[in-house]
Formats: sequence, C-alpha cells, structure tokens
Amino acid sequence: MRSTVHRRQRRLAPSIPECHPAIPYPVDDQPTGCRTNPDLFLHDERDTSRRSKEAAAQAVAECAGCPIAAACLKWALVNSHMTQLGIWGGTTAADRERMRDDLRQRFGRDWMNTLARQGSRAPEHTAASGFVNHEASFTSTQ
Ligand code: SF4
Repeated sequence: MRSTVHRRQRRLAPSIPECHPAIPYPVDDQPTGCRTNPDLFLHDERDTSRRSKEAAAQAVAECAGCPIAAACLKWALVNSHMTQLGIWGGTTAADRERMRDDLRQRFGRDWMNTLARQGSRAPEHTAASGFVNHEASFTSTQ
C-alpha cells in the first residue's frame, strides 16, 4: 500500500500543493532516474533486506548524477508529509529527518524560509555515499 502511494506521489507530485511557494517541485526536461525507474526509489527503511539496501544505494547513486538533485532535496525537506519514504535528492527518510532537526536547531522556526533564500546554493552530495553535506552549503543568517 505504501509503495503504491509513494509511486503515485512521484507521478502526481507536480500537481500536489507545495509547502513552501519559493521551493517548487523541481522539473527537468531530461528523464530523471526516479521517473524512468520509480520502483528503485521506493526505499522503506523498515525493510532491512540486502536487496532493499542495494536498491537504495543504486538510487542514491542515480541522484548523485541528477541535474536537479539540489532542488529535489530542498523540496523533499520542506514537504516531509509527502516524502516519508523513499530516496529523494540522494537521501533516505532518516537522512532528511536529521537534516530537518539540524536546520531547526540552526535557524529555528524560520528554517524553511532560510532554505528558500539559499537560492541555488543548495545541499551537495558527497561522491562516495551520496549523503548530503549541508554543513558546507547552508550559511547562517544569524
Ligand atoms: S535527485 Fe534523485 S529523486 Fe530527485 S529528481 Fe533526481 S533522480 Fe529523482
């Protein structure tokens, strides 16, 4: 059931209301990995099987080469209700939750606006793991 919902989110996301108007759902003319092979991105961290972990690692690798990865991650961070599962912008749900916690600690309740103001200076992937190096990307406004 969750997989079906998530798959639908990926197909319908551009028409879903967004949480922050300055962080729209990213689109690109080129077919992204998650659109050509959505099942690969349906990672659920409760599934600890080797197959699931391998699929997640493959999805993260696809994200690392995606031209809209930074915008995708920002959108996923501010739309937590729609990204509770899956790989988005090279991150797992747990990665994103840690990032949100960090952003809240650093910027308080205004963290989404701070993220929106970052413009193109969005999170970057590290080559090896795909984990997001947000420490280097977000500048403090305080
Ligand atoms: S970064 Fe990953 S999840 Fe986001 S659009 Fe690109 S391939 Fe899809």
